[in-house]
Amino acid sequence: MTKTVFSNFNLFDGTGDSNDKNAWFAVDDETGKLLDRGTGTAPNGDSNVDLKSKYVMPGLFNVHCHIMSHPDTADGGANESETEAAVFSVQSLRTLLKSGVTFVRECGTTYDLDIKLKKMMDKGTLKHVPSLLPSGMAFSMTGGHGDGYHFSYIVDSPDEMRKAVRTGLKKGAKVIKMMATGGVMTPNDFMDDPQLSTEEMRAGVVEAHHKGLKAAAHAEGNPGIQNALDAGMDSIEHGFYVNEQEAEQMVKQHTYLTPTLIAELAIPKYGKKFLPDWEIKKAEDALDDTYRNFKMAYQKGVKFTLGTDAGTPFNGFDATPTELELMTKIGMSPAEVYRCSSINSADLCGVSDQRGTLEVGKYADFLVLDKDPLADVRNVSQKDKQVYLNGKREF
Ligand SMILES: [Zn+2]
Repeated sequence: MTKTVFSNFNLFDGTGDSNDKNAWFAVDDETGKLLDRGTGTAPNGDSNVDLKSKYVMPGLFNVHCHIMSHPDTADGGANESETEAAVFSVQSLRTLLKSGVTFVRECGTTYDLDIKLKKMMDKGTLKHVPSLLPSGMAFSMTGGHGDGYHFSYIVDSPDEMRKAVRTGLKKGAKVIKMMATGGVMTPNDFMDDPQLSTEEMRAGVVEAHHKGLKAAAHAEGNPGIQNALDAGMDSIEHGFYVNEQEAEQMVKQHTYLTPTLIAELAIPKYGKKFLPDWEIKKAEDALDDTYRNFKMAYQKGVKFTLGTDAGTPFNGFDATPTELELMTKIGMSPAEVYRCSSINSADLCGVSDQRGTLEVGKYADFLVLDKDPLADVRNVSQKDKQVYLNGKREF
């Protein structure tokens, strides 16, 4: 075994509120895991890296991505062939990694592309991309959010959901994504429309849990958020109109909330091309409502994760650091925002014993920044930051 010792840096390990000054850690070159860490004089490694008093923090999670979706086209590239979508997906993963994301959870991918890419990563034929938790295709109802273009299984009863989720799991899905409400900007599809029923979603949740896996619900408005909670979902994605009763239920059931604030911000921006002024105003008001609702939920103790819905209009794969900035508006300190990634997101993805925080025994996924991330979350947006995956430098 050989080891690399990194030394002379300020360490935020993703757990507390402060930096360890003059820190060092040793990484096993074969496994990519942290062997030891400390402060002061560093031990000698087989290789030694002086990080020159810079700032080290854990690599980010992004638990809500659509790697095949084009943020800069009106249809998201929905008519692409599988080959085109696959090439684009690999580029998206690289962009995510460069931005500082070392772990990606997909929330609906056409052609089950993410499952296929994950198999290539496990074989070692696809390298230099973040760790990936694949969802495969999502689960929706006839005419529901995401119905079309190889994106969803269409189910219209609990029995159909059971069979479809079992099929997804057989193919290799590691998280089950279901549509509890309509979305935005799609014709005849609104945030407040309830879609899959509680009974239909419950059947999917039970199947995911039988495999030790988690279920996530696209749920923007009510009563769909309530339906998703009653179905036993592990995370509410978007959750813009979460109310007090639902927030209390989330705390009790230990349900995470992925706010995807940057995706909602893109709605008024995107809509300006297509919509009348009053409708833009409605979208902007919805944004104000969202911050109010999220502040309430955060104060009640709801746990948030970090996810951007990357791939939706004007919401690219380099934007995860921007989501950190938006999350501070919910009332979180920088350290609290990072813990949504290092602790909460790692737990939601079922990898908290392996990744998330920079503790001995876990993988050395970390960022090296010029300025202190605890002083200002904007310091994570540094364009030429260093990104390490499993102890190896990628950027
Ligand atoms: Zn999404």
